[in-house]
Amino acid sequence: MKALHLYNTLTRKKELLKPLFPPKVRIYTCGPTVYGHTHLGHMRTYTNTDILIRVLKYFRFKPFQVMNITDVGHLLGDRDLGEDKMEKAARQEKKDAWEIAKEYTKEFFLVMKKLNIEKADIVSKATDNIPQMILLVQELERRGFTYKIKDGIYFDTSKVPDYGKLSHMPLKKLLEGARVEINPEKRNPTDFALWKFTPKGIHRQMEWASPWNKKSFPGWHIECSTMAMRYLSYCFAGGKFYPQRFETIDIHTGGIDLVPVHHTNEIAQTEAATGKKFVNYWMHNEFLQVDGKKMSKSLGNFYTLSDLEGRGYKDLMPLRYLFLNTHYRKKMNFTWKSLAGAKTACENIIREVNVVNGLRDQKKEKYYLAEFANKLVNDLNMPQAIAVLHEVLGDNSLPSFSKKEIVMNFDQVLGLNLLEKAKEIRKSRQKKLPSKIVSLAKKRETLREKGKWAEADKIRKKIEELGYRVEDTSEGTDIKLI
Ligand SMILES: [Zn+2]
Repeated sequence: MKALHLYNTLTRKKELLKPLFPPKVRIYTCGPTVYGHTHLGHMRTYTNTDILIRVLKYFRFKPFQVMNITDVGHLLGDRDLGEDKMEKAARQEKKDAWEIAKEYTKEFFLVMKKLNIEKADIVSKATDNIPQMILLVQELERRGFTYKIKDGIYFDTSKVPDYGKLSHMPLKKLLEGARVEINPEKRNPTDFALWKFTPKGIHRQMEWASPWNKKSFPGWHIECSTMAMRYLSYCFAGGKFYPQRFETIDIHTGGIDLVPVHHTNEIAQTEAATGKKFVNYWMHNEFLQVDGKKMSKSLGNFYTLSDLEGRGYKDLMPLRYLFLNTHYRKKMNFTWKSLAGAKTACENIIREVNVVNGLRDQKKEKYYLAEFANKLVNDLNMPQAIAVLHEVLGDNSLPSFSKKEIVMNFDQVLGLNLLEKAKEIRKSRQKKLPSKIVSLAKKRETLREKGKWAEADKIRKKIEELGYRVEDTSEGTDIKLI
């Protein structure tokens, strides 16, 4: 395990990662609300989270990641007012809310797979945690943190002295944000719904009976606290909640937009229920902009998988590469031109690792691996890590075999499937060879296997006379047009 420093939103400092139960690192990741297409912003966020997981593995930690799927309770206005995003999508698309959730969850994981993002160890839907969420709200009720009003059970934020500590915003500012949409029955503007009641006369597709109301549904924030406690600390068993079992989670990740409300409320309710610190390290991904503007449906710059495919990007590795070129805590500006540039860059890297000949320089290999690691331990500085990759590729004195070894090592973190891509290219190139050349190459291969070097060499010359060059690599023979 290496000394890895990560920026912690809670302390606003880069801190040495000290997991509670090393080498295990317990991670909670806020997943998507599955009411619409997966877009570039999601793609960037989860690629960056994937980098964290890969870096932890690279340094021999054992990450254990839990991710939720929000399929109920996320209201349009993040602050417990407005229609449920799932129900609205169902109404607009004239489909069942459950169907919508299923469809967009499927799409989300398809995109994640295309981006070579490793799936979390546990993925759980909000709707699969209803009894546990109710138990947690009951615990908060028992501890005196809740109150009931007409439309639900609310959390009283005035009972938490350090409420809002994650955002570093003065309470006044948090209150201003909260006042945008205010429910007059709430005691404090920052109070939030733990459990909501279906309004009279409204038909909801997703609702459950709860101790407070026959037709009700969870608030948005409660699911993440519940799942974090359920899957990372096993606080629920036999229909009961055991807050004393809770152990502070090592890392919690999510988009930067989740800081002032969602994550602030996750902290408040978890710490109120357990009396323990919720999370040691909070990591947040910055926004993605498109052509310098916020990505939005109305601006027509809201890009999804089908837009990428429509522009010829069936392979999403160039996009992944593009994401790695901006640090996760910096805003990134996406343009189609930058994606085209990333595609070319990827092709060049693959070309470099495709030609492998010569000896190894282990001293240099060690040097470059150390350089790469130095960038990663500094709050996952991927742009600098990529710069080391280009340094390796551009080092003319480095034998190509060493280059390949180094690049393959780096790719454990980069996740660009470089070796596989190189193999694919070689195969497709060989498919295009004339049959005569292919059969000569096969013949030569058999002779070489039998150790008949002189005869094999004669065939090599014959192939060369026909205008092709033979290269023997560690991955097999490569034949190219001269
Ligand atoms: Zn969450």
